[in-house]
Amino acid sequence: MHIETELVHSGRGIDPSTGALVAPIHLSTTFERGEDGSYPQGYVYGRSGNPNRQDLETALAGLEAGCEAAVFGSGSAATFTLLQALRAGDHVVAPQNVYFGVQEMLAKILAPWGLQYTLVDTTDVAAVETAIRSNTRLILIETPSNPQLAITDIQTVAHLAHQANAYLACDNTIPSPVLQRPLDHGADFVIHATTKYLAGHSDVIGGAVITKDPNPLFAQLQLIQGIGGAVPSPFDCWLTLRGLQTLAVRVKAQSQSALAIAQWLQTHPAIDRVLYPGLTDHPGYEIAQRQMIGAYGGLLSILVGGGQTAALAMTTKTQLFTRATSFGGPHSTLEHRASIEAPGTGTPDNLLRLSIGLEHPQDLIADLEQALGHR
Ligand SMILES: *Cc1c(COP(=O)(O)O)cnc(C)c1O
Repeated sequence: MHIETELVHSGRGIDPSTGALVAPIHLSTTFERGEDGSYPQGYVYGRSGNPNRQDLETALAGLEAGCEAAVFGSGSAATFTLLQALRAGDHVVAPQNVYFGVQEMLAKILAPWGLQYTLVDTTDVAAVETAIRSNTRLILIETPSNPQLAITDIQTVAHLAHQANAYLACDNTIPSPVLQRPLDHGADFVIHATTKYLAGHSDVIGGAVITKDPNPLFAQLQLIQGIGGAVPSPFDCWLTLRGLQTLAVRVKAQSQSALAIAQWLQTHPAIDRVLYPGLTDHPGYEIAQRQMIGAYGGLLSILVGGGQTAALAMTTKTQLFTRATSFGGPHSTLEHRASIEAPGTGTPDNLLRLSIGLEHPQDLIADLEQALGHR
């Protein structure tokens, strides 16, 4: 079945008690036991399971062609739980420009607990190979990456991971399963901040880990999900599942606009460089073409000529693009990343990240044109 159809139908059914086409939100924290002490519907307590959460997990597992999913109260909790499922003394390889929150959790929480890690440029396969140690259990990649939109070759890194008896986890937040399915290229886990494109309306925080096969690391992650309890509310799950229905049309429209805007920005004299994997001069273009599905997503970054001052000035002049963090919503946003990340970030200080929304691309180009002014 095509993903457009799956998105509309997965995790959904007609409610057997009312005939409703849209599932009710089950707020109950607790479920009745049978006379024999059993749980006839399989639900016990809201932390360990809930019908809305089950619907969302079923849908996400199917969309990524995995066997099971576990959802969390944020994208950060999803990655954090996967890392927590490792043991003290294990080693992780992660990208140098990995999502900033992941760098923070590794450095400030997990390293003091005894997890070892190395940050490398994962676009450089030889560097990944060199970073692997005998105790490496997990390689984490993010492609396209945030905010530099760097492309990592999923299949090649999966091969390196498996040679070393390690797992490969791929953060698929930026492309979404509409544009990339990492499990098909050999990854063992997919991670999502469902906050972004999957929920898609900037109104719910959430995360997910999807596994290709049953394995001990995913079993440990599910144990932590139930006992640690960083679970999303029933309403959060319902909103995310609602967002999924329009994911394909949103992502395709946003990608088409992003490409047009990237091409236009490339010709503008006030812009030093445009980072977008759909541009033929992007260093990862060929790999992106191979592993992405027909489009390159709604996120792009620009390096503004004139440095940080010029970049910050531009953010004060846009009318349609709102100055705000996050991405993947219907409204276009732009953000100066270096100042939200901590000192020492590798993000250039003249970089602005643009999240292209669902407005007409010509209106967005006109807004950027007036904000950049004439030179
Ligand atoms: C936003 C984001 C996260 C974190 O998700 P939250 O829901 O904000 O915790 C992780 N990875 C990537 C690539 C993201 O964009």
